Amino acid sequence: MTTIGVLGMQGAIREHVRMLEALGADTLVVRSIDDLAHIDGLVLPGGESTAMRRLLDRYGLLEPLRTNTDLPMFGTCAGLILLATEVEGYDAHLRKIPMTVKRNAFGRQVDSFEVELPVKGIEAPVEAVFIRAPQVAAVEPIVEVLAEVEEAIVAVRYDKYVACSFHPELTEDLSMHRYFLDLVEAKKHQLT
Ligand code: GLN
Repeated sequence: MTTIGVLGMQGAIREHVRMLEALGADTLVVRSIDDLAHIDGLVLPGGESTAMRRLLDRYGLLEPLRTNTDLPMFGTCAGLILLATEVEGYDAHLRKIPMTVKRNAFGRQVDSFEVELPVKGIEAPVEAVFIRAPQVAAVEPIVEVLAEVEEAIVAVRYDKYVACSFHPELTEDLSMHRYFLDLVEAKKHQLT
């Protein structure tokens, strides 16, 4: 059985749990270092990255997650910000994906919007909800770009890390979670 943790600091935690369970995974809301030993992958939900960072520091999870190189991770919206090696104007957080992100990059006029988004590696377009979303301003060549909106990068994969600027957990579209689960299971398989 595959167990996926959902970082339980702040943000859309229950929504991710619901998606993962719909796909048949076991879930665990992660709030301590001990929880990390029981999961095969970790979802970093959307919310507010600055608030999540404060809580990661307070719960003593920042350093263990930064130095843990085994755990596949999937970040959505604020979770994408947590995974970047560079955040414009801020101290970077978990530093897993070699990319630079810009917070709230779609501007005040377009606070939130929804599109049918083609994503590399996923057959049908993904239902993508953007809420005060970040953009990926630059990636190292080693990072695979999975999706763009008007030339702005909004989804990437690098090694065992996946990140998107939008919120798949606020829709009924399970495809991004399935993509991550496949990656986690492929990795588990490699190890056994
Ligand atoms: N604007 C938030 C941030 O900068 C992200 C928004 C979201 O997760 N919906 O952290």
